[in-house]
Amino acid sequence: MANVHLAGIKKHFDGVKAVDGIDLEIGDGEFLVLLGPSGSGKTTLMRLVAGLEKPTGGQIIIDGQTVNDLPPRDRGIAMVFQSYALYPHKTVFGNISFPLTVEGMPREDIRKKVEWAAGLLGIGHLLDRLPSRISGGERQRVAIARALVRRPKVLLMDEPLSNLDAKVRHTAREELKLFQREINVTTIYVTHDQAEAMGLGDRIAVMHEGTVRQVGSPYSIYNDPQNMFVAGFVGIPPMNFMEQDGVILGFRPEALLPAEALPDKDCMRLKLLVERVEDLGSHRLVYGTIGKAKVIANHSFRLNLKEGDEHEFAVCSQELRRFDPKTGERIRP
Ligand code: ATP
Repeated sequence: MANVHLAGIKKHFDGVKAVDGIDLEIGDGEFLVLLGPSGSGKTTLMRLVAGLEKPTGGQIIIDGQTVNDLPPRDRGIAMVFQSYALYPHKTVFGNISFPLTVEGMPREDIRKKVEWAAGLLGIGHLLDRLPSRISGGERQRVAIARALVRRPKVLLMDEPLSNLDAKVRHTAREELKLFQREINVTTIYVTHDQAEAMGLGDRIAVMHEGTVRQVGSPYSIYNDPQNMFVAGFVGIPPMNFMEQDGVILGFRPEALLPAEALPDKDCMRLKLLVERVEDLGSHRLVYGTIGKAKVIANHSFRLNLKEGDEHEFAVCSQELRRFDPKTGERIRP
């Protein structure tokens, strides 16, 4: 276990500012998720921590030691990538044990460590199989077991679940969280899947154009966004924005409810012109406009709305977030 401190980290590739001054502290045993759109610098930041890239500026400190000049193998980190990169001709045992074999560890010690990692990931019964004879979810667990077998101080994972289908992915996510808690390994995890970020992260760092725009608990990222980028990027469907008297008002689709469901006091009434309704079973999405603003309302009321209808909706003041239209930063009361 270890803490990781990134101080002013930059990585520029001939004019491309892939990572542009990042300060982050990741605590001992913490699960930190890097979430951001494509090209925001998530993978580059991971590769910098891993030692696969050299920073243009700043310091990477693991457990109090600056590791900028240490090769990857001496940093006490392990990585799991999207492509599991298993050796096809080695058995599951051969794959998991590989990092230990390379170190020249005695066979009996290797066997114990492989059994420990395989047991943790629930793949102890697959040790004699070849990767081609196991499922995608099992391959992913072999890759994680291989990463853990050397008991790394820090585990880095770059979209490790993205090759799995939706159902397996959900189970794999729960298992991942459980074993991470169990062995308490400091983890940095890259994804652009919001549900994964919210479900897994103790904290989420939202990245955009090589910088961290906000870091906080899933709850605070969603409910207390510091700027319009975070407000608009986190949440599906995204936050609604409306300009009013030189201020941008933001409110979540689930805060925009049919007016009859809300009290008059402290709630703003708004006429919504319906363009389209999606009935998703448990709830309904109403797409439409309020004045010039395109909005989405997400509610579970049995209202029979259709294209062209005008209906009064409302949003209450505690649900409103105010942003500066020039800077996009949050305006605090
Ligand atoms: P994705 O979610 O698509 O994987 P990402 O957030 O991981 O994206 P990066 O892969 O870190 O983003 O890329 C950040 C920026 O740096 C992009 O503009 C990318 O084109 C650029 N970049 C990354 N690696 C290199 C490289 N080796 N040479 C030049 N530019 C690079």
